[in-house]
Amino acid sequence: MNRTMRVERLSVSGVRPGEIVVATGVAHPERGPVGSPAAPLLAAALGRGEPDPGGRRIRLHPMDGAAGAVGTGDAVLVMASYLELDGRAVGLGAAAHADDRAAVDICAELVAQWAGLLRSRRLLVAAPEPDCAGARAGVETILRAARVARREVPVHVYGRPVAAVDRIARLAEAGVAFTDDLDAVPDGSVVAFPPHGVPLPVRAEAAARGLGVVDTTCPLAALAHRDVEAYAHRGDTVVLMTGARDTAGEWVSVSQAPESVLTMRNAAQASDLQRFGVDPERLSLVVQTGIPVDDAAGMITALRDRYPRVRGQHYDALCYAATDRAAAVRSVAGAVDLTLVLGAADDPDAGQLEAEAAAGGRAVRRLAAAGELAAAWLTGVNAIGVVPARSAPGALMPQVLDALAGLGPLSVTEREVRTAPRPAVDGAAPGFPAQPGGTVVDA
Ligand code: SF4
Repeated sequence: MNRTMRVERLSVSGVRPGEIVVATGVAHPERGPVGSPAAPLLAAALGRGEPDPGGRRIRLHPMDGAAGAVGTGDAVLVMASYLELDGRAVGLGAAAHADDRAAVDICAELVAQWAGLLRSRRLLVAAPEPDCAGARAGVETILRAARVARREVPVHVYGRPVAAVDRIARLAEAGVAFTDDLDAVPDGSVVAFPPHGVPLPVRAEAAARGLGVVDTTCPLAALAHRDVEAYAHRGDTVVLMTGARDTAGEWVSVSQAPESVLTMRNAAQASDLQRFGVDPERLSLVVQTGIPVDDAAGMITALRDRYPRVRGQHYDALCYAATDRAAAVRSVAGAVDLTLVLGAADDPDAGQLEAEAAAGGRAVRRLAAAGELAAAWLTGVNAIGVVPARSAPGALMPQVLDALAGLGPLSVTEREVRTAPRPAVDGAAPGFPAQPGGTVVDA
């Protein structure tokens, strides 16, 4: 840590016996205001018993280190502080009543534990936007529809958009209802199709009932659906490459021609297709949108090796959203000592990000709240990766960054990977379909 670091004890007031106060800031007699963004981490650590507060109440509060100098101090603040390059003082501290010597010792242990972590660090945020362009555009389109709909007859979304928890919350706040049953949508009202689309029978039923339809099916997803239908229509068996992950769109793709689609989850299954009696001359492949193209590449190779006359999509039709997100995570995880995946414990998206990050063999932890960040994770850590999953509330990222900024000067950068169509040499538009977005078909 830099040479301005100082560990000291100050006389303060306002701490009752039986409690430990973690300082959210300190009025220092010499350094002036000392910010303490890491205070929630210290309080949470005490709450977990690191160290054990011995049943004492834990409270977060600003402390006045000048109080003792004017004779009012009845407590001891143990604190560490340093000066940032711009002269601002930053630190951390905890205080206990002066008569409670054991509590003062606990404060000293707590501060020593965290002060030992104070150092400058690099922080790389990987793929800061968890939602793909199709999901973002789709949610905005549904919100627009909700704004024009009458509040007493809400817009219903069939299924649930695969989107960040904050975007889903915005839909709910706008009065949008979610359903898996068209019977729940009142006659004469509006149903929205999410970006991954809806099965064909649902589309047909909505039309037959004369429901208003807001179709936010992403153009890339719609293209894959059309390909499944077209390949089946020409008499082919369609091998739908879904990979090992569950995607919301898989059942939509299958619904385009259920009797003609075989799903393929791994390359080894190429040799199993024969038992379904497939005709090697009448075989097509479609890559399910929402999976990394890298996952599909091995399956495509295995299928082509086995069935050289297999036909399929033009590669321009592939969606690279998941590919790019995974690549950003792997790139960051390979460049840092510790990757923090922000997201709920039961979130499959966070689990997938964890698996991507862990593939490089470095430490990975999941955080559902900033306070879960343990001191032991940060020992010897100079560079940290942070990846938001869809279940992470938008407020969590700034909370984590704030807290880490209280543990030493922090350089924060972002890393994204973007695969985009390369403009044709003659300036003509490449073969990529329209950008993801939503269209109101009949609202
Ligand atoms: S096709 Fe790709 S861009 Fe479109 S919604 Fe699905 S994952 Fe997102």
